[in-house]
Amino acid sequence: MSYVVVHYNEIGLKGKNQPLFLRRLAANLLRATAGTGVRRADERSGRLVLSLARDADWPTIRERVRCIFGIANFSLAERTEPDLDALKAGVDRALEGRHFESFKVATRRAYKPFPLKSEEINRDLGAAVQGRTGARVDLEHPEVTLHVEVLPREIYFSFGREAGPGGLPVGVSGSVVVLLSGGIDSPVAAHRLMKRGCRAVFVHFHSHPFQDGTSRQKAVDLVRCLTRFQHLSRLYLVPFGEVQREIVSRAPGPLRVVLYRRFMVRIASEIARREGAKALVTGESLGQVASQTLDNLAVVEEAVGMPILRPLIGSDKEEIVQQARALGSYEISILPDQDCCSLFAPRHPATFSNLEEIGQAESNLQVNALVRMALDQIEIRGFEFPESAPSESSVVSAASGA
Ligand code: ATP
Ligand code: MG
Repeated sequence: MSYVVVHYNEIGLKGKNQPLFLRRLAANLLRATAGTGVRRADERSGRLVLSLARDADWPTIRERVRCIFGIANFSLAERTEPDLDALKAGVDRALEGRHFESFKVATRRAYKPFPLKSEEINRDLGAAVQGRTGARVDLEHPEVTLHVEVLPREIYFSFGREAGPGGLPVGVSGSVVVLLSGGIDSPVAAHRLMKRGCRAVFVHFHSHPFQDGTSRQKAVDLVRCLTRFQHLSRLYLVPFGEVQREIVSRAPGPLRVVLYRRFMVRIASEIARREGAKALVTGESLGQVASQTLDNLAVVEEAVGMPILRPLIGSDKEEIVQQARALGSYEISILPDQDCCSLFAPRHPATFSNLEEIGQAESNLQVNALVRMALDQIEIRGFEFPESAPSESSVVSAASGA
């Protein structure tokens, strides 16, 4: 039988919360690897150990575990009795069919009473591997590292290790509502918060039927992509065209975009309240476009009573693009679409707005009624990963009381 030994680092630091964090990480691991032959997850001396069925699908397990936040590294491992001879015999069997020029042994002893020190195991086992394979020991740049982990009741060994994504397990930091456009930035912003342990609930504003449905479809595809990191997602699709029409007919052109944003965050904060989420998240980056000046960010912020998190505020576009490529959202984001912000976009959006003029403009609008109207028309879609393809039956509910 084989195992996956999972190391976490940061969550080890979280003191009294540690059991909660570990339970969450174990649950996320089991959820992500459902159907691949992972039988169970157990805590073992500062590691999580997954037990695999004989026919487990390691390539798929590896792909999925790579996306689980909270993991420092992981490896496909074998287990032996806590005894040097048993370890040597196990390694000897596992060397069958393996070829490498150089190697080193790296032992960690989580169980200090074990009669041999780490260096003694390294030396003894290293000599055995060298004798069997003829490969040389290279402590600096080995082709293969044989990791040995000595625990109280067992030893695990593995050839090499996979890097995990770091961060905290999704779910331990609570929920946030992410304003997801079809663009490059907001999926990256969502990914950042998921990495810090947040479960993301997604909200997308679209101007259908004033525009075509391309931005909606992109939002759906982006959520499907991001659900790899949190396994269950909800997307609120909010028809925004009527609200925009009201703004356009009653407010000065240059203020439109900031007013759109203020309505977006009001609607999103109501969704956050329903979802028990404590903050909103946007993909804004300082100075990137007219609506993202400090003045305008402050004016938008004033419309709601909860924090608006902007994880990309200090990032350059190039850094954001790199991350979007790495997480797989970039190719979706660059597809052409009709974004709701381009509907009735003013020729010269204001780069500076102040609360006085905004208050004036909003006094001509039925703010609460418009927010309620949009909320009454939301459509909610559920997503799962694995089995991520959302079908019509995955529409959780439509309309207000969600
Ligand atoms: P992005 O690449 O995320 O679209 P952007 O640089 O194009 O960002 P804006 O279009 O000004 O910037 O949008 C700023 C932020 O406002 C977005 O990152 C997103 O969080 C939110 N936002 C904009 N449009 C929408 C929308 N249609 N639905 C939901 N959120 C939106
Ligand atoms: Mg955009």
